[in-house]
Amino acid sequence: MAHRSSGNPSTNMDGFSAQTIFSKDQGITYKDFLVLPGYIDFAPQDVSLETCITRNVKAKLPIISSPMDTVTESRMAITMALLGGIGIIHNNLSMEDQAAQVERVKRFENGFITDPIVLSPQNTIADIDAIAERYGFHGVPITEDGTLRTKVVGIVANRDIDFEKNRKLPLSQVMTTELVTAKKGVSLIEANEILRKSKKGKLPIIDKDGKLVALMSRTDLQKNHEYPFSTKDEQKRLRVGAAVSTHPHDRERIEILVSRGVDILVVDSAQGYSKFQIDLLKELKKKYPNVDVMAGNVVTREQGEALIKAGADALRIGMGPGSICITQDTMACGRAQATAVYYTALMARKYKIPVIADGGIVNIGDIAKALAVGASSVMCGSLFAGSKEAPGDYFYENGVRLKKFRGMASIEAMEGSGGGAKRYNAEDQKIRVAQGVSGAVVDKGSLLEFIPYLMQGVRHALQDMGCRDIPALHQALYSEKLRFEPRSLAAQAQGGVHGLYSYKKPIIGD
Ligand code: GDP
Ligand code: GDP
Ligand code: 5GP
Repeated sequence: MAHRSSGNPSTNMDGFSAQTIFSKDQGITYKDFLVLPGYIDFAPQDVSLETCITRNVKAKLPIISSPMDTVTESRMAITMALLGGIGIIHNNLSMEDQAAQVERVKRFENGFITDPIVLSPQNTIADIDAIAERYGFHGVPITEDGTLRTKVVGIVANRDIDFEKNRKLPLSQVMTTELVTAKKGVSLIEANEILRKSKKGKLPIIDKDGKLVALMSRTDLQKNHEYPFSTKDEQKRLRVGAAVSTHPHDRERIEILVSRGVDILVVDSAQGYSKFQIDLLKELKKKYPNVDVMAGNVVTREQGEALIKAGADALRIGMGPGSICITQDTMACGRAQATAVYYTALMARKYKIPVIADGGIVNIGDIAKALAVGASSVMCGSLFAGSKEAPGDYFYENGVRLKKFRGMASIEAMEGSGGGAKRYNAEDQKIRVAQGVSGAVVDKGSLLEFIPYLMQGVRHALQDMGCRDIPALHQALYSEKLRFEPRSLAAQAQGGVHGLYSYKKPIIGD
């Protein structure tokens, strides 16, 4: 065992390669090891965290919010995508409701809005109120018959109707008819310039017959300016994922989600190495070749390779490491998370398929370590639960401000409309065995502050490792330049806060 001593005097290389660390006879996780520091010749702000979430979806930040009903609905997904990550809408709700959540994200920001909502002059102000309630905007172009097939005759904006008491008034009486428009074929940059100069809120793009082909909104210029890192598709719409199950009756759900523009379908299964998932992957890749599919969950190379061969565009790794999870104690199956990520990433690399370290992330160091052992991104539940953007209301317990957080396989979630029970194959069973618990997490404030803090921490970590970006980190991992060392229990205790009578906890950590 030539590699077995930490600090080889003949090579000047301290520590061990990842291969040595992970070939021990025990599964290990983030707390069990440290990465040895590398050489720094750049600043933290020079570190890029850009990554591939799936084969075709790139993001500026390697973070994903979990498809859990106390973590990701449209508000969370919008915030994640604006900041540079991505959110996966959970499926513990009806397919119409899940599709509406996806649509809200896709409509939040745009370049050209190619399917704008339009009304006719006979519609009333109340119809605009209904649109505002559902989508959050008031600016509606008016066409002769209220469809995109006829000429544009006006536009209604919030300022045309905000003080009007009579909501039954037809739009013909309040619409603006003097329109600033642009011709079909105009580029995004030219159209933005017209919007800027006109000082109007909306720019209708029309063809030679006066029909509406697209709409542009001034607020999108502002959003693009405020959130330069945001994760967007070719049409400058925010990207979003949605969880689906392998059950046959979810085929309709999948079809609706795709029709609303979902970017990533996440096949949500606690043990993904199944005939059901393999069949579904083959079917999805044939039917929707342009939508990436994240498959999982898996923890071994054999499981992961089968899903890649069936068409997976990314693998979600983790069985049992989640904060709310009791799978390993209940099912006797699972794997220590760092070991699971290392081996699956090692295999997936051959196919150029990214892996996602899902669950068990409790601090910034864990994110950096997950990336260092081969993950391209991390998926977090408890870390983002408790934020302002997570679903649910705050409540107080013993004077502490909390939000509810529960496992999707907790008895409580499995009684919801589907997702939880389907993920854990418990849907049709009379006796449901819980694989998760429900509880509460403390208020984390807004992700608008929390995520930049987390990510700056990860940039510092990569700087300490001497790597400017995630591809360089992976290169160092596989060339064995990146060195690791196991950490004894005493070393773990010493690495945490100790010997103080009292101290103020940072906003993140266990
Ligand atoms: P890239 O080409 O995808 O890198 O996009 P950029 O962010 O560099 O933008 C190219 C052009 O599109 C610039 O004029 C941007 O201001 C504009 N742009 C980017 N995102 C949006 C958006 O969401 N809405 C609008 N209206 N313009 C955008
Ligand atoms: P408004 O002034 O009330 O219409 O709303 P804003 O202009 O502040 O915001 C409209 C936002 O909704 C922009 O980000 C648009 O890209 C987005 N959006 C998506 N689909 C549509 C649509 O069909 N019509 C309009 N008006 N906006 C849309
Ligand atoms: P966390 O970031 O909170 O540690 O873990 C979140 C992950 O736990 C989710 O992305 C999902 O993979 C997993 N998960 C969610 N609910 C349950 C559950 O009830 N049981 C188990 N075993 N895992 C869960």
